[in-house]
Amino acid sequence: MSIRFGPAGLGPVNTAKEMLEKLHGQGLQACEIAFTYGVYIKPVDAEEIGKIAKSLDIELSIHAPYFVNLNSDDPKKIVATKKRILDCCEIGEKLGAKIVVFHPGYYGKMKDETYDNIKKGILELLEVIEKKGWKIKIAPETMGKINVFGSIQEISRLAKETGCAFCIDFAHVLARDKSVDYALIEKLFPQKQWHVHFSGIIYGDKGEKEHRITEEQEWRELLSHLPKDKEIRIINESPTMIEDSIMGLKISQSLP
Ligand SMILES: [Zn+2]
Repeated sequence: MSIRFGPAGLGPVNTAKEMLEKLHGQGLQACEIAFTYGVYIKPVDAEEIGKIAKSLDIELSIHAPYFVNLNSDDPKKIVATKKRILDCCEIGEKLGAKIVVFHPGYYGKMKDETYDNIKKGILELLEVIEKKGWKIKIAPETMGKINVFGSIQEISRLAKETGCAFCIDFAHVLARDKSVDYALIEKLFPQKQWHVHFSGIIYGDKGEKEHRITEEQEWRELLSHLPKDKEIRIINESPTMIEDSIMGLKISQSLP
């Protein structure tokens, strides 16, 4: 089984090198850069950080800003959404990042058209990426709130019909569906490469409330159920994401 573990955050540019060395020293091989509130790395720094990450065998990924919605009823917001995701792709290419994770959108007023609108947006993004010759992939994420687009079925269908990558957030799946059907997920995502988010989560009737520290037992459950024939990156988003990632790595090494 090939699994890379790492946190959802690189931190500031001026400490990026130390951070990557620290992760490497702990055996972690992945790191997601949080552009949650915008792209904060300049192109020249991105190339430098990318070189360091590569030399340490750490695969980088990017989380696109939260202010995106491919199902907005305001065309200007769709344009802005695409620009935000493409800006992440552009800097991600300089970073040598593998993937840009994003929240696909809300059901909003156009509930019935949601799937088609989001699919259309993704196809247009893929067209630009191909034209630019970028290698980076874009990955809509499974979402934890029931009123937000992003069930495992919806994300699987997008990946199948557009060829885009995907992010399976197992904490979100639990919060949304109240249980995790590992066999179904394996069936829905036959692709060889899985980008995964995982952490403890607090949830209610409407789904996700917030991420919390990952318990050892939760890691054991996830890791014992993951398919063995895939290349998997697991990004931890808990408040103690580095420690939790190290715990996941240690448990995975101890499993038969
Ligand atoms: Zn996310």
